[in-house]
Amino acid sequence: MKKFTINKEEIPKGKNTTVQLNVGRLPSGTRIHIQVNVYRAEKDGSCMLVIGGIHGDEINGVETVRKACSEGYFDELETGSVIAIPLLNVYGFINFSREVPDGKDVNRSFPGSSAGSLSSKIARTITKEILPLVDFGVDFHTGGASRYNYPQIRYSTGDQNAAELAKVFNAPYCIAKSMISKSFRKVAHGMGIPIIVFEGGESLRLDGLSIQKGLEGLQNILDFKGLKKGNQTTYTSKFISKTSWLRATSAGVFKWTKSSGQWVEKDEKIGIINDPYGHFEYPIIAKKSGYIIGHNNAPVVNHGDALFHIGYEF
Ligand SMILES: [Zn+2]
Repeated sequence: MKKFTINKEEIPKGKNTTVQLNVGRLPSGTRIHIQVNVYRAEKDGSCMLVIGGIHGDEINGVETVRKACSEGYFDELETGSVIAIPLLNVYGFINFSREVPDGKDVNRSFPGSSAGSLSSKIARTITKEILPLVDFGVDFHTGGASRYNYPQIRYSTGDQNAAELAKVFNAPYCIAKSMISKSFRKVAHGMGIPIIVFEGGESLRLDGLSIQKGLEGLQNILDFKGLKKGNQTTYTSKFISKTSWLRATSAGVFKWTKSSGQWVEKDEKIGIINDPYGHFEYPIIAKKSGYIIGHNNAPVVNHGDALFHIGYEF
């Protein structure tokens, strides 16, 4: 049995603790730490990683993991271990930004390097200290900019273990996506660790529905993997195989009349764009029947901006 060691600290079975990982220093000299909450049962079992805030402005994930920790979701595990990192990108969080201060994206910096940039150092710390202990994981994200994602799981195309986790998590939608180069999900996949990505809400805005669905999903996985008993669940996720964005055909002021989570019919009017002066109004027409899995909450849009993300093949 491999030793359960993080940052040279061995964490015995039956112990819950917090480990601080030093990932760098601000120009002011302030040290930046990642806080890692670790929960271990007395009995052997699998190890789940739960991670929020790889993108520092995607705070629904930070709040979901924080809530799971503070409300005792991982206390008194029956088997195995949970490693919970509520906030990975501390730099982005304090700057209200997706990236780290040098503009790099932590989720495009894996596996990382200890001699690299801030994002690369964060990635390296996770790859070296955390991933060797982990059997599977959930990575929490939101839509970028003002794009809202209806709660959904994304998993790697062709990864049966991840597809099973996606089903069990039981978010409203599940979408298979190809892996992005240098992403956390891809590097973990290469180490034999299936990671599912939960997307819910938009950046810099808390969304109650997404947080609730995220917490329910964690309970479903804890139960399914035998870490902690939960309620019996009927799996009702809709698996979607194709998605596309409906884009603005004019600049102007955008108002949606149908929103994420709703079904739309081909040729249905689902929003409008008008000018600010009262001269024109264009309808936005669905090109395909499907579910709205995400929409843009920005009121002022340019030609070509993404308006609705539609999932249309099942
Ligand atoms: Zn993200």
